[in-house]
Amino acid sequence: MPGQSAASLKRKPTLVPYTEEYISWGRYPKVSHRHVHKPAWGDQLSAIFASASHGSLLPYGLGRSYGDSCLNANGALIDCRRLNRILGFDASTGVVRCESGVSFADLVAVFLPKGWFLPVTPGTKFVTVGGAIANDVHGKNHHCAGTFGAHVRQLGLHRSSDGPVVCSPAENPSMFRATIGGLGLTGVIAWADIQLRPVTGAWIDAEVVPFQSLPAFLDLSRESDGRFEYTVAWLDCFAGKSARGIFFRGNHAAETGKAFRLKRGPKLPFALPAWFLNRYVVKAFNSAYYQAHALKKGPSLTSYDSFFYPLDTIRQWNLFYGKQGFLQYQCVIPESNLDALEELLDRIARSGMGSILGVLKKFGNASAAGMMSFPRPGLTLALDFAMRGERTLQLMRSLDQVVEQSGGALYPAKDARMSPAMFEASFPHWRQFASYIDPAMSSSFWRRVTEGQ
Ligand SMILES: Cc1cc2nc3c(=O)[nH]c(=O)nc-3n(C[C@H](O)[C@H](O)[C@H](O)COP(=O)(O)OP(=O)(O)OC[C@H]3O[C@@H](n4cnc5c(N)ncnc54)[C@H](O)[C@@H]3O)c2cc1C
Repeated sequence: MPGQSAASLKRKPTLVPYTEEYISWGRYPKVSHRHVHKPAWGDQLSAIFASASHGSLLPYGLGRSYGDSCLNANGALIDCRRLNRILGFDASTGVVRCESGVSFADLVAVFLPKGWFLPVTPGTKFVTVGGAIANDVHGKNHHCAGTFGAHVRQLGLHRSSDGPVVCSPAENPSMFRATIGGLGLTGVIAWADIQLRPVTGAWIDAEVVPFQSLPAFLDLSRESDGRFEYTVAWLDCFAGKSARGIFFRGNHAAETGKAFRLKRGPKLPFALPAWFLNRYVVKAFNSAYYQAHALKKGPSLTSYDSFFYPLDTIRQWNLFYGKQGFLQYQCVIPESNLDALEELLDRIARSGMGSILGVLKKFGNASAAGMMSFPRPGLTLALDFAMRGERTLQLMRSLDQVVEQSGGALYPAKDARMSPAMFEASFPHWRQFASYIDPAMSSSFWRRVTEGQ
């Protein structure tokens, strides 16, 4: 690849929390793996495929998927985090070539000072490039930039049968589309070329707008989508159908001259007791969050880190939910079916099992970059629920009924329990994708949703 050499792209030390524990972000389910391979170089992957003595294989990034899509119970994982080299950069185009274990935190640390930023980013910077491709992640700019996969120019895929294969829209295009959003099942992504987007600095012209109903949220989305690159809303999920919330929108600011320093936040050292996040605490938090942000309404200059990654401020915040962990429920509902969204919010409010983190966003109309990409036109709602056993699972099954009837879908990256029927409803063409799966690969998620295991 033409451009700057890897040696000239010195990486600042970053704060990627590195754990030896192989769990997912929701800490549910907890499974055992027979072996974890830790390649340091891409050319070690062939030897790993050759040693099939530990059962099926699955690549693992930073474990920021919430459920079991990054787990492979009784099989083996390939921990890709040591494949973390930046291989080259073309400053004239903004295309970076990097290994798949490079994190978004690292990409921002290296390229923001050079005037380049991620084309799409999820709500945490602690994800790897490989993980972001395999879930075809979306961000606050889906309405104008589509998903991360739309900015992957080409990638190097290691398959057990074929060895390294280059995939792009021109070369092996079907395998390229299968690998974007392919849940790590088509092979190990060794490296990728990513198109970055130019920016003038670390600051966002942000605006906070409180709203009191779902139609008001929709009006704000429609009005903002043409003017703001980033839009998202936080929702008070105890408000039921009245759906009050806070709308956040923003654009990269022009040169401000203001210095920015990344702060290291506190770390939650251990899991809090399960009773800590009871319904009264969660309700009080929702109310306080709404009031505090409603007071801050209006424009402000906000750092990219506070705007995109507020949750990264507290490291290991997932321990708030206690030892049993938590589940995230993320669905997309066609916009024409606002009643379904109201019904979901009503069922959640009536269950008393509210969530601290209710996020609502209108996806744009971008066509899917991958065969199994989750984003599609509609409204996506994401909510966290402490795992309280059957009670929690029952609520989620009741939400599934509404999502399925509305013609909606669930997001595999956030899922730990959807049924095969719900998966089929969400991805009716999954059998076509299945023909691209590497025979050496499997995951707990895939076995659960396709074989009911
Ligand atoms: C706080 C928080 C906020 C989030 N916000 C968003 C959001 O706004 N939008 C969104 O879309 N998602 C969001 N997510 C989910 C997260 O972005 C995805 O789950 C992402 O894929 C995690 O990346 P990872 O590197 O941790 O991968 P992992 O979770 O370890 O793995 C994810 C998948 O990628 C596969 N994989 C990993 N590395 C490779 C590789 N080298 N080759 C092939 N396959 C590989 C795995 O097998 C697995 O299927 C959020 C998660 C958290 C914790």
